[in-house]
Amino acid sequence: MDLDACVEGVLAADRTWLGRAVTLVESTRAGDRAPATELLHRLLPHAGGARRVGITGVPGVGKSTFIDAVGTSLTAQGHRVAVLAVDPSSSVSGGSILGDKTRMPRLAVDDAAFIRPSPSSGSLGGVTRTTRETMVVVEAAGFDVVLVETVGVGQSETAVADMVDFFLVLMLPGAGDELQGIKKGVLELADALVVNKADGANEVAAQRAVRDYRAALAITAPAHPRWVPPVLAVSAIEGTGIDQVWGHVQAYFRELADDGELGRRRAGQQVRWMWAMVDDLLRDRLRASSEVQELADRLEQQVADGKVTPAAAAAEITGALFR
Ligand code: GDP
Repeated sequence: MDLDACVEGVLAADRTWLGRAVTLVESTRAGDRAPATELLHRLLPHAGGARRVGITGVPGVGKSTFIDAVGTSLTAQGHRVAVLAVDPSSSVSGGSILGDKTRMPRLAVDDAAFIRPSPSSGSLGGVTRTTRETMVVVEAAGFDVVLVETVGVGQSETAVADMVDFFLVLMLPGAGDELQGIKKGVLELADALVVNKADGANEVAAQRAVRDYRAALAITAPAHPRWVPPVLAVSAIEGTGIDQVWGHVQAYFRELADDGELGRRRAGQQVRWMWAMVDDLLRDRLRASSEVQELADRLEQQVADGKVTPAAAAAEITGALFR
């Protein structure tokens, strides 16, 4: 691929080049890694200008309906919206569900929107890396809002919270039982809690859920000392409450950008990302060396048999890696 043309094409927001650039970044072929790195290096100075918002919630809570509603409202106001997804399970189930265009019918045909399903490259680390890098590409192409969708299970929520500025947790009405089950960790990550499906017969339950979540949040350590996460009820399907949610997101950016908190948050994320990549690279190197791998296999057996201590084996493996 002609990298110069690709960089120019992406900066000009040419959709064909945008698609090619993301495909290159997502590629797991060994030969694609160097050009992908070079491309990202050249796009990076043009990235960073978007509001990055993560959206999580259990399957069926209404993530895609909500993103379709928010995204359409934003593009109508002149924003350009990219929707990315992190779903490491998609490689297991064989097909991505998150970021599927058919789930966001209005945004899918919107010229000011770009939707990319979750890469199915396997491990959470791999999927996270790809999504972060795709974020660089879409930001360089001038998308000023990036929505990152993830499922409300496992480690992917933490991973997404650590690549966005604002983390929004979607909830279902009927809190009573659910409040018991809600992971405390998710409340700690949330910059806003949004109870969806506050319409029809659910309306009363949704308002009760809002009160319950407010009470729960009051005794939870906030993600930021200066930001009290709002709890709101919306109906993604009817479009009610959607603009209020975005109003809070904007207020957050005003508050935190003003005193440099946003910059500090991003700087911390970059450094953590660097160390995560160091971990990945070390693991790759370990696997790439057949000598180390043989040693590791042997030591694994000896540790399992209780003949060698884990500490001694670990020292030997890392010693061999750096020899
Ligand atoms: P996701 O799996 O979290 O992406 O959820 P979807 O957006 O696919 O929505 C799951 C189901 O809930 C669909 O049948 C939607 O039509 C429905 N749904 C989504 N938002 C609302 C809402 O605000 N009110 C009602 N009543 N149903 C909704």
